[in-house]
Amino acid sequence: MTLHRQPRPATSLPAPDCANRAWARRSIALLQGDARRSADTHLVKPVFSGLRGIDVYLKDESTHPTGSLKHRLARSLVLYGICNGFIGPETTLVEASSGSTAVSEAYFARLLGLPFVAVMTRGTSRQKVAEIERFGGRCHFVDRACEVYDAAEAIAAQTGGHYLDQFTYAERATDWRGNNNIAESIFTQMEQELHPVPDWVVMSAGTGGTSATLGRYIRYRNLETQLCVVDVENSAFYDCYQTGDRCVTKPTGSRIEGIGRPRVEPSFLPTVVDHMIRLPDAASIAAARVLSDMIFRRVGPSTGTNFLGLCCIAADMMQSGRSGSLVSIICDSGARYSDTYYDDTWLEAQGIDIAPHVAALHEFVETGEWRLPFGSQGLV
Ligand SMILES: *Cc1c(COP(=O)(O)O)cnc(C)c1O
Repeated sequence: MTLHRQPRPATSLPAPDCANRAWARRSIALLQGDARRSADTHLVKPVFSGLRGIDVYLKDESTHPTGSLKHRLARSLVLYGICNGFIGPETTLVEASSGSTAVSEAYFARLLGLPFVAVMTRGTSRQKVAEIERFGGRCHFVDRACEVYDAAEAIAAQTGGHYLDQFTYAERATDWRGNNNIAESIFTQMEQELHPVPDWVVMSAGTGGTSATLGRYIRYRNLETQLCVVDVENSAFYDCYQTGDRCVTKPTGSRIEGIGRPRVEPSFLPTVVDHMIRLPDAASIAAARVLSDMIFRRVGPSTGTNFLGLCCIAADMMQSGRSGSLVSIICDSGARYSDTYYDDTWLEAQGIDIAPHVAALHEFVETGEWRLPFGSQGLV
């Protein structure tokens, strides 16, 4: 079945496209059913004795049925594809991903009965590959992070499929004014708190879509909140923010799965970002370990980056005697990384030493003393 209309004599109106429309109607009902069956995610409030006057809130996106914040994005991207007429009853869905998005898209592809192909680098977490395959998806591996885009486009062309292209469409497939997006959910959950309008929301960037949604929503609702985006080593976003150059590339590839990109992704919107910090990878991983200790369950490495960024902001606020609330996001669970970031042998083989950062960060959250081997402005 083709999604393109058949040529017709110029004098007659076309017959209704009943089959494709009926499929789209059923599919949208299935996607809406998934949303209706889902509860909102928790906004947890762990207490850190050293962060005096600062209330910390973490939006726990690890509890979605597919384990990460990408559950929201995948649902939006598939809905966007159907409503734009890009996806029909026989369309193969293809995606370039560092894994989390592909897991969630594989879930939705199965829900709709569509084939799914994920294009990822060979180093992607074993658990994510297993989850994609369990949902009936196929994994295609490339050697370098910068190769995923062309490979995904080529597979979509070969299969007559649709390249979902999260890095381009994340910012526009998400309904930024509301519709229970992550920003609306956070700010609504904050309403009864001591400091209901957070001073800062802190988020890392993969597609840049979540920070775009947060930043737009803050402006749309006239909130005083500022948005800090935290970047990692080998990522193009920070340099773009500093120089305005969207052509920056960093071909090495990020070592923090889910965030940091070799190019400035189209979904990254620097104009809604108030501040950016770049942090050492070893410190991000250390922060994931420290936060996991404090909340009694493991979080993924990008959550470590988020938490460390939040600590940087908290240190500056305490320094200037300010109190208030800070919000960040638990992007996924550490269960996906038990044989990588949570394996000391693996870390050693990567040449990553987290020990000094772990000790200093424990001290910071317990006493408020900043003794990390870099300032609270990060790597500049
Ligand atoms: C995608 C992702 C992020 C970053 O979110 P974006 O909205 O894509 O910028 C952070 N952590 C994990 C685990 C992710 O999968």
